Amino acid sequence: MIVVFDPHALPPLRDVIARHGLDARKSLGQNFLLDLNLTGRIARSAGDLRGVTVVEVGPGPGGLTRALLATDAAAVVAVERDSRFVRALQDVVEASAGRLTIVEADALEVDPVELVPAPRAIVANLPYNVATPLLLGWLKRIDAFAGLTLMFQKEVADRLVAQPGSKSYGRLSVIAQWRAQAKVLFNLPAKAFTPPPKVESTVVQFTARPDPEPADWKTMERVTAAAFGQRRKMLRQSLKPLGDAEALLAEAGLDGTARAEEVPVAGFAALARAVSARTGAS
Ligand code: SAM
Repeated sequence: MIVVFDPHALPPLRDVIARHGLDARKSLGQNFLLDLNLTGRIARSAGDLRGVTVVEVGPGPGGLTRALLATDAAAVVAVERDSRFVRALQDVVEASAGRLTIVEADALEVDPVELVPAPRAIVANLPYNVATPLLLGWLKRIDAFAGLTLMFQKEVADRLVAQPGSKSYGRLSVIAQWRAQAKVLFNLPAKAFTPPPKVESTVVQFTARPDPEPADWKTMERVTAAAFGQRRKMLRQSLKPLGDAEALLAEAGLDGTARAEEVPVAGFAALARAVSARTGAS
């Protein structure tokens, strides 16, 4: 397919912002990327998008949206909560030859699997205040996506890819790595954004694990909440709310004196299976 969309053919993003009076709102996590070279880098880092429908959450003034339209993606469906941007993006919709659709909605209420056909991917510079709940919702259905390429605060990205034994290793690391292969692609300094946030940012890519450890989502949430809720305690203590902790640990093949931060993902999945077996959960 010959790509005909030229991100630079439209007015500069700063002009779009000035013309539409788009002051950034902190409550909506609005930190914009106005450098099209940078947004191009993010879009290309998503890999081969030929024939893929990309869901973008929070297009804002449209820097990343333009870059996504310049890839081989079949279509881009952008979900934006702030109606000011929905209006401002109409010029991009018109220039997209039918490849861009804007949906005005809260992304937390939208199921991308219902929204667009497969093959589908998500590429987004996420609003940081809702980045984690959005990611968890998508991880539940990760096998429905060709991939997720997402910008987070670096501190959250560190937790997503943390290995056992590190201080960032926690619930989010376990759940994310149980469902997906998570890879850090690159960091961006705060000054790359307008207005700059307080912290550095990181692009992380997720692809479905071909053979995830079998375990039930809700039980994994319960087990990791109990274990990391008291991360300094030994598991035989912290897992007591789940029932007979010693028996569960024995069944999962784990040492009761271990602490949550030492247990690999497979250990938590084994624990979740042990809990499910005892409570009859699926
Ligand atoms: N993609 C743009 C960029 O890179 O310049 C903007 C990214 S900005 C970090 C986050 C965007 O998400 C904003 O446009 C904001 O209005 C939007 N947003 C915030 N909360 C949202 C939600 N719950 N659902 C959909 N969009 C949301």
